[in-house]
Amino acid sequence: MRRAILCEKKQLPTYLRRMSRTDVICALSTAPGMGAIALIRLSGGGSVSILEKHMSKSGPYVARRAYFGAFLRNGALIDEVVATVYQGPNSYTGEDVVEIACHGSVYIQEQIIHALIESGARLADPGEYTLRAFMNGKMDLSQAEAVADLIASESAAGHQVAIQQMRGGFSNDLKVLREELIHFASLVELELDFAEEDVEFANRADLLELIAQISKKIRSLVDSFQVGNVIKKGVPVAIIGAPNAGKSTLLNKLLNEERAIVSEIAGTTRDTIEDEISIEGIKFRFIDTAGIRHTTDEIESIGIRKAYEKVEQAAIVLFLFDVSEPMEEFERQWAELKTAFEGRKVIVLWNKSDKTSDKPKTIEGYKALPISALHGKGIEELKRELIAEINLNPLHNRETIVSNVRHVRALSLALEALVRADEGLRNGITGDFLAQDIRQALFHLGEITGEISTDDLLDNIFSKFCIGK
Ligand code: GDP
Repeated sequence: MRRAILCEKKQLPTYLRRMSRTDVICALSTAPGMGAIALIRLSGGGSVSILEKHMSKSGPYVARRAYFGAFLRNGALIDEVVATVYQGPNSYTGEDVVEIACHGSVYIQEQIIHALIESGARLADPGEYTLRAFMNGKMDLSQAEAVADLIASESAAGHQVAIQQMRGGFSNDLKVLREELIHFASLVELELDFAEEDVEFANRADLLELIAQISKKIRSLVDSFQVGNVIKKGVPVAIIGAPNAGKSTLLNKLLNEERAIVSEIAGTTRDTIEDEISIEGIKFRFIDTAGIRHTTDEIESIGIRKAYEKVEQAAIVLFLFDVSEPMEEFERQWAELKTAFEGRKVIVLWNKSDKTSDKPKTIEGYKALPISALHGKGIEELKRELIAEINLNPLHNRETIVSNVRHVRALSLALEALVRADEGLRNGITGDFLAQDIRQALFHLGEITGEISTDDLLDNIFSKFCIGK
Protein backbone atom coordinates (compact mmCIF):
# COMPACT_ATOMS: atom_id res chain seq x y z
CA MET A 1 0.00 0.00 0.00
CA ARG A 2 2.76 2.31 1.04
CA ARG A 3 4.55 1.91 -2.30
CA ALA A 4 1.42 2.08 -4.38
CA ILE A 5 1.16 5.83 -4.51
CA LEU A 6 4.84 6.40 -5.10
CA CYS A 7 4.73 4.27 -8.23
CA GLU A 8 1.46 5.67 -9.52
CA LYS A 9 0.14 4.10 -12.66
CA LYS A 10 -1.91 6.03 -15.12
CA GLN A 11 -5.44 4.79 -14.54
CA LEU A 12 -7.42 4.40 -17.71
CA PRO A 13 -10.89 5.87 -17.49
CA THR A 14 -13.56 3.27 -18.05
CA TYR A 15 -14.65 4.62 -21.39
CA LEU A 16 -11.10 4.48 -22.65
CA ARG A 17 -10.60 1.00 -21.32
CA ARG A 18 -13.51 0.08 -23.54
CA MET A 19 -11.96 1.84 -26.51
CA SER A 20 -10.58 -0.63 -29.02
CA ARG A 21 -7.44 0.09 -30.96
CA THR A 22 -9.39 0.46 -34.18
CA ASP A 23 -12.05 2.79 -32.78
CA VAL A 24 -11.81 5.65 -35.25
CA ILE A 25 -13.18 9.05 -34.36
CA CYS A 26 -13.96 11.88 -36.75
CA ALA A 27 -15.00 15.51 -36.37
CA LEU A 28 -14.80 18.90 -37.93
CA SER A 29 -11.72 20.62 -36.48
CA THR A 30 -12.25 24.07 -37.92
CA ALA A 31 -14.94 26.41 -36.63
CA PRO A 32 -18.47 25.30 -37.52
CA GLY A 33 -20.17 27.18 -40.33
CA MET A 34 -19.07 28.31 -43.75
CA GLY A 35 -15.42 29.11 -44.41
CA ALA A 36 -12.93 29.11 -47.26
CA ILE A 37 -11.59 25.75 -46.13
CA ALA A 38 -12.72 23.24 -43.52
CA LEU A 39 -10.63 20.56 -41.87
CA ILE A 40 -12.08 17.20 -40.89
CA ARG A 41 -9.96 14.91 -38.82
CA LEU A 42 -9.93 11.14 -38.32
CA SER A 43 -7.97 9.44 -35.56
CA GLY A 44 -7.52 5.79 -34.69
CA GLY A 45 -6.14 2.57 -36.10
CA GLY A 46 -8.40 2.30 -39.17
CA SER A 47 -8.29 5.96 -40.25
CA VAL A 48 -6.30 5.42 -43.41
CA SER A 49 -8.44 2.56 -44.70
CA ILE A 50 -11.56 4.66 -44.13
CA LEU A 51 -9.99 7.43 -46.19
CA GLU A 52 -9.05 5.01 -48.95
CA LYS A 53 -12.67 3.92 -49.32
CA HIS A 54 -13.66 7.46 -50.33
CA MET A 55 -10.81 8.74 -52.46
CA SER A 56 -11.10 8.34 -56.22
CA LYS A 57 -7.46 7.33 -56.58
CA SER A 58 -6.55 4.00 -55.04
CA GLY A 59 -3.82 3.81 -52.41
CA PRO A 60 -1.65 3.04 -50.73
CA TYR A 61 -1.90 6.25 -48.74
CA VAL A 62 1.25 6.55 -46.67
CA ALA A 63 2.34 8.72 -43.77
CA ARG A 64 3.92 12.16 -44.13
CA ARG A 65 2.25 12.74 -47.51
CA ALA A 66 -0.59 14.97 -48.60
CA TYR A 67 -2.87 13.64 -51.35
CA PHE A 68 -4.97 15.74 -53.66
CA GLY A 69 -8.00 13.97 -55.10
CA ALA A 70 -11.74 13.56 -55.38
CA PHE A 71 -13.72 12.57 -52.29
CA LEU A 72 -16.74 10.37 -53.05
CA ARG A 73 -19.79 9.34 -51.06
CA ASN A 74 -21.60 6.30 -52.49
CA GLY A 75 -19.80 6.94 -55.77
CA ALA A 76 -20.96 10.57 -56.02
CA LEU A 77 -18.38 13.34 -56.17
CA ILE A 78 -18.55 15.49 -53.04
CA ASP A 79 -15.44 17.67 -53.35
CA GLU A 80 -11.81 17.88 -54.33
CA VAL A 81 -9.82 17.59 -51.14
CA VAL A 82 -6.31 17.37 -49.77
CA ALA A 83 -5.82 14.50 -47.33
CA THR A 84 -2.76 14.43 -45.10
CA VAL A 85 -1.75 11.15 -43.52
CA TYR A 86 0.07 10.76 -40.19
CA GLN A 87 1.18 7.48 -38.74
CA GLY A 88 1.03 6.97 -34.99
CA PRO A 89 2.84 7.69 -32.75
CA ASN A 90 3.94 10.68 -34.84
CA SER A 91 0.67 12.58 -34.73
CA TYR A 92 -1.27 14.88 -32.41
CA THR A 93 -3.16 12.00 -30.77
CA GLY A 94 -0.32 9.50 -31.04
CA GLU A 95 -2.55 7.32 -33.28
CA ASP A 96 -2.91 7.11 -37.05
CA VAL A 97 -4.50 10.38 -38.12
CA VAL A 98 -5.93 11.65 -41.39
CA GLU A 99 -6.76 15.29 -41.98
CA ILE A 100 -9.08 16.08 -44.84
CA ALA A 101 -9.03 19.69 -46.03
CA CYS A 102 -12.10 20.41 -48.11
CA HIS A 103 -13.96 23.49 -49.34
CA GLY A 104 -15.68 25.06 -46.37
CA SER A 105 -19.31 24.60 -47.38
CA VAL A 106 -21.50 23.34 -44.57
CA TYR A 107 -23.07 20.86 -47.01
CA ILE A 108 -19.67 19.43 -48.00
CA GLN A 109 -18.60 19.17 -44.36
CA GLU A 110 -21.75 17.22 -43.49
CA GLN A 111 -21.46 14.94 -46.51
CA ILE A 112 -17.86 14.02 -45.72
CA ILE A 113 -18.58 13.40 -42.03
CA HIS A 114 -21.61 11.24 -42.92
CA ALA A 115 -19.48 9.27 -45.38
CA LEU A 116 -16.77 8.68 -42.76
CA ILE A 117 -19.34 7.51 -40.22
CA GLU A 118 -20.91 5.15 -42.77
CA SER A 119 -17.46 3.65 -43.27
CA GLY A 120 -16.97 2.89 -39.59
CA ALA A 121 -15.81 6.08 -37.87
CA ARG A 122 -17.84 7.61 -35.06
CA LEU A 123 -18.29 11.24 -34.13
CA ALA A 124 -15.67 12.33 -31.58
CA ASP A 125 -16.69 13.46 -28.12
CA PRO A 126 -15.67 16.98 -27.05
CA GLY A 127 -11.92 17.08 -26.45
CA GLU A 128 -11.48 13.45 -27.43
CA TYR A 129 -8.47 14.08 -29.69
CA THR A 130 -6.65 15.80 -26.86
CA LEU A 131 -7.81 13.16 -24.38
CA ARG A 132 -6.30 10.53 -26.66
CA ALA A 133 -3.10 12.57 -26.91
CA PHE A 134 -2.97 12.57 -23.09
CA MET A 135 -3.75 8.86 -22.79
CA ASN A 136 -1.11 8.03 -25.39
CA GLY A 137 1.52 10.00 -23.50
CA LYS A 138 1.85 12.79 -26.08
CA MET A 139 1.23 15.38 -23.38
CA ASP A 140 0.40 15.49 -19.69
CA LEU A 141 -2.84 16.76 -18.24
CA SER A 142 -1.69 20.32 -17.59
CA GLN A 143 -0.45 20.54 -21.19
CA ALA A 144 -3.80 19.22 -22.43
CA GLU A 145 -5.59 21.90 -20.42
CA ALA A 146 -3.24 24.49 -21.89
CA VAL A 147 -4.46 23.49 -25.37
CA ALA A 148 -7.96 24.67 -24.38
CA ASP A 149 -6.52 27.87 -22.90
CA LEU A 150 -4.48 28.49 -26.03
CA ILE A 151 -7.53 28.16 -28.25
CA ALA A 152 -9.44 30.53 -25.97
CA SER A 153 -6.58 33.04 -25.61
CA GLU A 154 -7.52 36.54 -26.71
CA SER A 155 -4.55 38.56 -25.56
CA ALA A 156 -0.77 38.50 -25.81
CA ALA A 157 -0.47 37.74 -22.11
CA GLY A 158 -3.07 34.94 -22.18
CA HIS A 159 -1.34 33.48 -25.20
CA GLN A 160 2.07 33.60 -23.55
CA VAL A 161 0.91 31.78 -20.43
CA ALA A 162 -0.99 29.11 -22.39
CA ILE A 163 1.72 28.40 -24.92
CA GLN A 164 4.39 28.17 -22.23
CA GLN A 165 2.24 25.66 -20.35
CA MET A 166 1.43 23.71 -23.50
CA ARG A 167 5.12 23.45 -24.38
CA GLY A 168 5.72 21.85 -20.99
CA GLY A 169 7.22 24.73 -18.98
CA PHE A 170 4.99 24.19 -15.98
CA SER A 171 5.19 20.39 -16.31
CA ASN A 172 8.98 20.53 -16.17
CA ASP A 173 8.87 22.61 -12.99
CA LEU A 174 6.56 20.05 -11.44
CA LYS A 175 8.67 17.16 -12.64
CA VAL A 176 11.73 18.58 -10.88
CA LEU A 177 9.75 19.11 -7.67
CA ARG A 178 8.32 15.61 -7.79
CA GLU A 179 11.70 14.02 -8.41
CA GLU A 180 13.19 15.82 -5.41
CA LEU A 181 10.27 14.72 -3.27
CA ILE A 182 10.43 11.12 -4.48
CA HIS A 183 14.12 11.00 -3.61
CA PHE A 184 13.27 12.34 -0.17
CA ALA A 185 10.39 9.90 0.25
CA SER A 186 12.48 6.92 -0.77
CA LEU A 187 15.04 7.68 1.95
CA VAL A 188 12.34 7.95 4.59
CA GLU A 189 10.64 4.80 3.37
CA LEU A 190 13.95 2.94 3.41
CA GLU A 191 14.14 3.75 7.09
CA LEU A 192 10.71 2.23 7.57
CA ASP A 193 11.94 -1.00 5.99
CA PHE A 194 14.68 -1.14 8.61
CA ALA A 195 12.48 0.07 11.43
CA GLU A 196 13.70 -2.51 13.88
CA GLU A 197 17.30 -1.49 13.43
CA ASP A 198 16.50 2.14 14.22
CA VAL A 199 18.67 3.59 11.46
CA GLU A 200 18.41 7.05 9.95
CA PHE A 201 19.23 7.24 6.25
CA ALA A 202 17.75 10.63 5.77
CA ASN A 203 19.60 13.34 7.62
CA ARG A 204 16.89 15.41 9.33
CA ALA A 205 18.62 18.75 8.79
CA ASP A 206 19.01 17.99 5.09
CA LEU A 207 15.35 16.99 4.90
CA LEU A 208 14.25 20.23 6.49
CA GLU A 209 16.36 22.15 4.02
CA LEU A 210 14.90 20.23 1.09
CA ILE A 211 11.32 20.76 2.28
CA ALA A 212 12.02 24.47 2.67
CA GLN A 213 13.35 24.69 -0.89
CA ILE A 214 10.48 22.77 -2.42
CA SER A 215 7.88 24.69 -0.40
CA LYS A 216 9.39 27.96 -1.58
CA LYS A 217 9.06 26.92 -5.20
CA ILE A 218 5.49 25.75 -4.74
CA ARG A 219 4.61 28.95 -2.88
CA SER A 220 5.90 31.09 -5.72
CA LEU A 221 3.81 29.03 -8.16
CA VAL A 222 0.76 29.56 -5.94
CA ASP A 223 1.51 33.29 -5.78
CA SER A 224 1.79 33.49 -9.55
CA PHE A 225 -1.90 32.63 -9.74
CA GLN A 226 -2.67 36.20 -8.80
CA VAL A 227 -1.30 37.44 -12.10
CA GLY A 228 -2.36 34.23 -13.90
CA ASN A 229 -5.95 34.82 -12.94
CA VAL A 230 -5.76 38.46 -13.97
CA ILE A 231 -4.45 37.39 -17.36
CA LYS A 232 -7.18 34.83 -17.83
CA LYS A 233 -10.17 36.61 -16.34
CA GLY A 234 -9.20 40.26 -16.64
CA VAL A 235 -9.04 42.97 -13.99
CA PRO A 236 -12.36 44.24 -12.62
CA VAL A 237 -12.37 48.04 -12.51
CA ALA A 238 -15.04 50.26 -10.95
CA ILE A 239 -15.61 53.83 -12.06
CA ILE A 240 -17.40 55.80 -9.40
CA GLY A 241 -18.26 59.42 -8.94
CA ALA A 242 -21.19 61.79 -8.62
CA PRO A 243 -23.68 62.26 -11.47
CA ASN A 244 -22.15 64.30 -14.25
CA ALA A 245 -18.59 63.75 -13.01
CA GLY A 246 -17.95 62.30 -16.48
CA LYS A 247 -18.01 58.54 -15.86
CA SER A 248 -19.68 57.52 -19.11
CA THR A 249 -17.61 59.98 -21.09
CA LEU A 250 -14.46 58.39 -19.64
CA LEU A 251 -15.66 54.88 -20.28
CA ASN A 252 -16.61 55.69 -23.84
CA LYS A 253 -13.25 57.33 -24.41
CA LEU A 254 -11.42 54.23 -23.17
CA LEU A 255 -13.65 51.86 -25.13
CA ASN A 256 -13.64 53.90 -28.30
CA GLU A 257 -9.88 53.99 -28.44
CA GLU A 258 -9.88 50.25 -28.05
CA ARG A 259 -12.47 49.75 -30.77
CA ALA A 260 -10.58 51.99 -33.15
CA ILE A 261 -7.57 49.73 -32.76
CA VAL A 262 -9.61 46.60 -33.29
CA SER A 263 -11.29 47.91 -36.42
CA GLU A 264 -7.93 48.77 -37.96
CA ILE A 265 -7.21 45.06 -38.30
CA ALA A 266 -8.45 44.62 -41.85
CA GLY A 267 -11.28 42.23 -42.42
CA THR A 268 -12.03 41.48 -38.79
CA THR A 269 -15.64 41.81 -38.02
CA ARG A 270 -15.93 41.16 -34.36
CA ASP A 271 -18.71 41.96 -32.02
CA THR A 272 -17.68 44.87 -29.91
CA ILE A 273 -16.49 43.72 -26.56
CA GLU A 274 -18.65 45.76 -24.29
CA ASP A 275 -16.98 47.45 -21.40
CA GLU A 276 -13.67 45.68 -21.70
CA ILE A 277 -10.37 47.14 -22.83
CA SER A 278 -6.99 45.56 -23.33
CA ILE A 279 -3.84 47.36 -22.25
CA GLU A 280 -0.50 45.65 -22.91
CA GLY A 281 -2.39 42.42 -23.43
CA ILE A 282 -4.24 42.60 -20.10
CA LYS A 283 -8.02 42.83 -20.07
CA PHE A 284 -9.66 45.44 -17.86
CA ARG A 285 -13.36 44.82 -17.27
CA PHE A 286 -15.54 47.67 -16.13
CA ILE A 287 -18.00 46.58 -13.49
CA ASP A 288 -21.69 47.18 -13.76
CA THR A 289 -21.15 49.92 -16.23
CA ALA A 290 -24.73 49.78 -17.45
CA GLY A 291 -25.65 50.75 -13.91
CA ILE A 292 -23.11 53.53 -13.93
CA ARG A 293 -24.55 54.94 -17.10
CA HIS A 294 -28.16 54.97 -16.15
CA THR A 295 -28.15 55.25 -12.41
CA THR A 296 -29.28 58.43 -10.83
CA ASP A 297 -28.44 57.54 -7.28
CA GLU A 298 -24.64 57.79 -7.25
CA ILE A 299 -22.97 59.47 -4.23
CA GLU A 300 -26.00 60.82 -2.31
CA SER A 301 -25.95 62.56 -4.66
CA ILE A 302 -23.70 59.37 -4.90
CA GLY A 303 -25.78 56.35 -3.52
CA ILE A 304 -23.14 55.34 -1.05
CA ARG A 305 -24.34 51.77 -0.77
CA LYS A 306 -24.05 51.22 -4.51
CA ALA A 307 -20.62 52.82 -4.62
CA TYR A 308 -19.48 50.53 -1.78
CA GLU A 309 -20.73 47.46 -3.66
CA LYS A 310 -18.81 48.41 -6.76
CA VAL A 311 -15.65 49.09 -4.82
CA GLU A 312 -15.96 45.68 -3.20
CA GLN A 313 -16.13 43.87 -6.53
CA ALA A 314 -13.25 45.80 -8.04
CA ALA A 315 -9.51 45.22 -8.06
CA ILE A 316 -8.98 48.84 -9.08
CA VAL A 317 -11.24 51.82 -8.42
CA LEU A 318 -11.30 54.97 -10.50
CA PHE A 319 -12.79 57.78 -8.45
CA LEU A 320 -13.84 60.60 -10.70
CA PHE A 321 -14.36 64.15 -9.54
CA ASP A 322 -15.43 67.14 -11.59
CA VAL A 323 -12.78 69.77 -10.76
CA SER A 324 -15.09 72.61 -11.66
CA GLU A 325 -17.03 71.70 -8.50
CA PRO A 326 -15.94 73.21 -5.16
CA MET A 327 -13.24 71.28 -3.29
CA GLU A 328 -15.49 71.06 -0.21
CA GLU A 329 -17.71 68.79 -2.26
CA PHE A 330 -14.73 66.55 -2.94
CA GLU A 331 -13.87 66.46 0.78
CA ARG A 332 -17.45 65.46 1.56
CA GLN A 333 -17.51 62.60 -0.96
CA TRP A 334 -14.04 61.47 0.05
CA ALA A 335 -15.06 61.33 3.71
CA GLU A 336 -18.05 59.18 2.84
CA LEU A 337 -16.08 56.73 0.72
CA LYS A 338 -12.87 56.67 2.72
CA THR A 339 -13.55 53.45 4.58
CA ALA A 340 -14.47 51.67 1.36
CA PHE A 341 -11.19 52.81 -0.20
CA GLU A 342 -8.95 51.63 2.61
CA GLY A 343 -6.46 49.01 1.47
CA ARG A 344 -7.67 49.25 -2.13
CA LYS A 345 -6.07 50.38 -5.30
CA VAL A 346 -7.79 53.69 -5.94
CA ILE A 347 -6.85 56.23 -8.59
CA VAL A 348 -8.40 59.66 -8.16
CA LEU A 349 -9.17 61.32 -11.47
CA TRP A 350 -9.56 65.11 -11.54
CA ASN A 351 -11.86 65.23 -14.52
CA LYS A 352 -12.76 68.23 -16.66
CA SER A 353 -9.27 69.58 -16.10
CA ASP A 354 -9.82 71.56 -19.31
CA LYS A 355 -12.16 73.80 -17.30
CA THR A 356 -9.62 74.99 -14.78
CA SER A 357 -6.00 76.13 -14.64
CA ASP A 358 -5.64 75.19 -10.94
CA LYS A 359 -2.80 72.87 -10.07
CA PRO A 360 -4.14 69.37 -9.38
CA LYS A 361 -4.38 68.52 -5.70
CA THR A 362 -2.42 65.61 -4.25
CA ILE A 363 -3.95 63.10 -1.86
CA GLU A 364 -1.68 61.34 0.54
CA GLY A 365 -1.44 57.61 -0.04
CA TYR A 366 -3.33 57.68 -3.35
CA LYS A 367 -2.52 58.28 -6.95
CA ALA A 368 -4.25 61.26 -8.49
CA LEU A 369 -4.29 62.33 -12.14
CA PRO A 370 -5.76 65.32 -13.96
CA ILE A 371 -7.70 64.19 -17.03
CA SER A 372 -10.20 65.47 -19.50
CA ALA A 373 -12.44 62.59 -20.46
CA LEU A 374 -14.14 64.72 -23.06
CA HIS A 375 -10.96 65.79 -24.84
CA GLY A 376 -8.99 62.60 -24.22
CA LYS A 377 -6.35 64.34 -22.15
CA GLY A 378 -4.52 62.18 -19.60
CA ILE A 379 -5.99 58.94 -20.97
CA GLU A 380 -2.59 57.48 -21.88
CA GLU A 381 -1.29 58.32 -18.39
CA LEU A 382 -4.36 56.66 -16.93
CA LYS A 383 -3.69 53.51 -18.93
CA ARG A 384 -0.10 53.48 -17.72
CA GLU A 385 -1.33 53.81 -14.13
CA LEU A 386 -3.80 50.95 -14.61
CA ILE A 387 -1.10 48.65 -15.86
CA ALA A 388 1.26 49.79 -13.09
CA GLU A 389 -1.26 48.58 -10.51
CA ILE A 390 -0.64 45.00 -11.58
CA ASN A 391 2.62 43.26 -10.95
CA LEU A 392 3.46 41.93 -14.37
CA ASN A 393 7.05 41.01 -13.52
CA PRO A 394 6.45 37.27 -13.67
CA LEU A 395 5.04 37.77 -17.16
CA HIS A 396 7.90 39.96 -18.35
CA ASN A 397 10.46 37.62 -16.81
CA ARG A 398 8.77 34.72 -18.55
CA GLU A 399 8.41 32.88 -15.24
CA THR A 400 5.98 30.01 -14.96
CA ILE A 401 2.55 31.44 -14.25
CA VAL A 402 -0.26 29.28 -12.92
CA SER A 403 -3.58 30.35 -14.39
CA ASN A 404 -5.77 27.32 -13.68
CA VAL A 405 -7.87 27.08 -10.50
CA ARG A 406 -7.52 23.30 -10.41
CA HIS A 407 -3.74 23.60 -10.47
CA VAL A 408 -3.55 26.24 -7.78
CA ARG A 409 -5.79 24.14 -5.51
CA ALA A 410 -3.61 21.08 -5.97
CA LEU A 411 -0.47 23.14 -5.36
CA SER A 412 -1.95 24.59 -2.16
CA LEU A 413 -2.82 21.11 -0.90
CA ALA A 414 0.70 19.91 -1.70
CA LEU A 415 2.05 22.89 0.21
CA GLU A 416 -0.16 22.13 3.21
CA ALA A 417 1.19 18.58 3.28
CA LEU A 418 4.75 19.89 3.19
CA VAL A 419 4.04 22.33 6.01
CA ARG A 420 2.81 19.36 8.06
CA ALA A 421 5.96 17.41 7.16
CA ASP A 422 8.08 20.38 8.19
CA GLU A 423 6.32 20.72 11.54
CA GLY A 424 6.49 16.98 12.05
CA LEU A 425 10.22 16.91 11.40
CA ARG A 426 10.78 19.69 13.91
CA ASN A 427 8.70 17.81 16.48
CA GLY A 428 10.47 14.53 15.79
CA ILE A 429 7.50 12.57 14.39
CA THR A 430 8.07 9.00 13.29
CA GLY A 431 9.05 8.10 9.75
CA ASP A 432 5.69 6.62 8.81
CA PHE A 433 3.81 9.85 9.55
CA LEU A 434 6.46 11.78 7.68
CA ALA A 435 6.17 9.44 4.72
CA GLN A 436 2.41 9.92 4.72
CA ASP A 437 2.70 13.70 4.41
CA ILE A 438 5.22 13.44 1.62
CA ARG A 439 3.04 10.98 -0.22
CA GLN A 440 0.17 13.44 0.10
CA ALA A 441 2.29 16.21 -1.42
CA LEU A 442 3.33 13.90 -4.26
CA PHE A 443 -0.26 12.88 -4.80
CA HIS A 444 -1.43 16.47 -5.27
CA LEU A 445 1.44 17.37 -7.59
CA GLY A 446 0.62 14.23 -9.58
CA GLU A 447 -2.97 15.35 -9.92
CA ILE A 448 -1.86 18.39 -11.89
CA THR A 449 0.06 16.54 -14.54
CA GLY A 450 -2.36 13.60 -14.53
CA GLU A 451 -0.10 10.89 -13.10
CA ILE A 452 -3.01 10.60 -10.72
CA SER A 453 -6.38 10.99 -12.37
CA THR A 454 -9.91 9.72 -12.16
CA ASP A 455 -12.64 9.29 -14.75
CA ASP A 456 -14.59 12.15 -13.24
CA LEU A 457 -11.66 14.51 -13.38
CA LEU A 458 -10.87 13.68 -17.00
CA ASP A 459 -14.50 13.90 -17.94
CA ASN A 460 -14.75 17.25 -16.27
CA ILE A 461 -11.70 18.63 -18.05
CA PHE A 462 -12.26 17.28 -21.54
CA SER A 463 -16.00 17.78 -21.72
CA LYS A 464 -15.30 21.53 -21.70
CA PHE A 465 -13.30 21.28 -24.90
CA CYS A 466 -14.94 21.86 -28.23
CA ILE A 467 -15.67 18.93 -30.49
CA GLY A 468 -12.83 18.38 -32.94
CA LYS A 469 -10.07 19.30 -30.50
P1 GDP B 1 -21.71 60.74 -15.65
O1 GDP B 1 -23.05 61.08 -15.13
O2 GDP B 1 -20.71 60.70 -14.54
O3 GDP B 1 -21.67 59.49 -16.47
O4 GDP B 1 -21.26 61.97 -16.57
P2 GDP B 1 -21.24 62.10 -18.15
O5 GDP B 1 -20.15 61.29 -18.73
O6 GDP B 1 -22.61 61.84 -18.66
O7 GDP B 1 -20.83 63.61 -18.32
C1 GDP B 1 -21.64 64.66 -17.84
C2 GDP B 1 -21.34 65.89 -18.65
O8 GDP B 1 -20.00 66.32 -18.44
C3 GDP B 1 -21.49 65.69 -20.15
O9 GDP B 1 -22.10 66.83 -20.69
C4 GDP B 1 -20.07 65.57 -20.64
O10 GDP B 1 -19.88 65.99 -21.96
C5 GDP B 1 -19.35 66.48 -19.68
N1 GDP B 1 -17.93 66.11 -19.52
C6 GDP B 1 -17.45 64.89 -19.23
N2 GDP B 1 -16.10 64.91 -19.17
C7 GDP B 1 -15.73 66.19 -19.44
C8 GDP B 1 -14.46 66.84 -19.52
O11 GDP B 1 -13.39 66.26 -19.37
N3 GDP B 1 -14.48 68.17 -19.79
C9 GDP B 1 -15.64 68.86 -19.99
N4 GDP B 1 -15.55 70.13 -20.22
N5 GDP B 1 -16.84 68.26 -19.91
C10 GDP B 1 -16.91 66.95 -19.65
